[in-house]
Amino acid sequence: MAAIPVMIAPRSPTSTVAPPAGALVDTHGRIHRDLRISLTDRCSLRCTYCMPEQGNEWLARSSILSLDEIETVARVAADAGITTFRLTGGEPLLRTDIVDVVRRLSRIESPRGPVTIAMTTNGIRLPEFLPALIDAGLHRLNISIDTIRRDRFHELTRRDRLDDVLAGIAAAAASPLRPLKLNAVAMRGVNDDELVELVEFAVAHDAQLRFIEQMPLDAGHTWNRNTMVTREEILDALSARWRLDPIPGRGGAPAETWLLDGGPHTVGVIASVTAPFCGNCDRLRLTADGQLRNCLFSTSEFDLMPVLRSNAGTPNAGTPDAAGIEAVLRACVWGKLPGHAINDPSFLQPARGMNAIGG
Ligand code: SAM
Repeated sequence: MAAIPVMIAPRSPTSTVAPPAGALVDTHGRIHRDLRISLTDRCSLRCTYCMPEQGNEWLARSSILSLDEIETVARVAADAGITTFRLTGGEPLLRTDIVDVVRRLSRIESPRGPVTIAMTTNGIRLPEFLPALIDAGLHRLNISIDTIRRDRFHELTRRDRLDDVLAGIAAAAASPLRPLKLNAVAMRGVNDDELVELVEFAVAHDAQLRFIEQMPLDAGHTWNRNTMVTREEILDALSARWRLDPIPGRGGAPAETWLLDGGPHTVGVIASVTAPFCGNCDRLRLTADGQLRNCLFSTSEFDLMPVLRSNAGTPNAGTPDAAGIEAVLRACVWGKLPGHAINDPSFLQPARGMNAIGG
């Protein structure tokens, strides 16, 4: 496997131009390997912490990246050192060409070897699509489930679809895809009495439950620091049931993980608010409408559309401007701040909701 040259960036605030080649490194020395690709802002659920019940302003269909455009960006990103593509949304399984997206991306070779294709989904359409997705080259799945109680699920997601999600998780558990991860946002007065039960549910499905601290990304801007459930509270609740042994070697992963009673089962916590992990962040995001983001909480974006669609209607239509795309990608990485500012008094929530950013 050919080694990709690593160009370590000078940490000078006066370096305003991104290096034109080498790994995707930012001004703080972080090398980027993970691109989250949002395939749509549409979703089959309306989780209260993510989307409004009604009146969401959807992205215009004409602005949604096509399969060819997604592949074009992914190929350039892989050449520049991205090794993992995580498909997300909105709900990625609402894309009618989802199997083709997985097939096209899984064939990409980065200079470091074949890429990994992962997906974050609500699981609802997995029973229908999972065999084809695996055949197309999907490697890993994260499924979101915040409660296993029917009434609570209905209230939280504003849809009565718990049985469909459970069927999706059962299909994933029966598949060869491992590690299987289940995501749950911990919320006070909503599911904070269910944390142990959720871990037991995950263990019964040979999966790792990962609790996510609720972040200020809800469409209604109702997030409140004083009421969010913290990492410490989650660990206290779990410690009453299991001995938790920290698993070292987290690297750039968002979750801290622990062995449950010595293993083999594990649990994770993603503590973006109370224990941010920006110092090791290796992630970039591509929105469904072609905007590159260097942080979930960015208030600025890097627009790929002008380079992606510059040849439309000309004899060169269909010929990708790889150099132009790479330049935008590198500028996006170079512009990354040392960390998010959730804990600053000056923090401004991004204009996009989580469904339009890509979780
Ligand atoms: N529809 C897919 C799903 O349900 O997993 C993918 C998109 S969803 C936006 C991705 C993840 O973001 C989910 O695990 C969801 O719980 C999480 N999420 C959404 N809004 C959040 C918030 N305000 N704070 C923390 N996590 C959030």
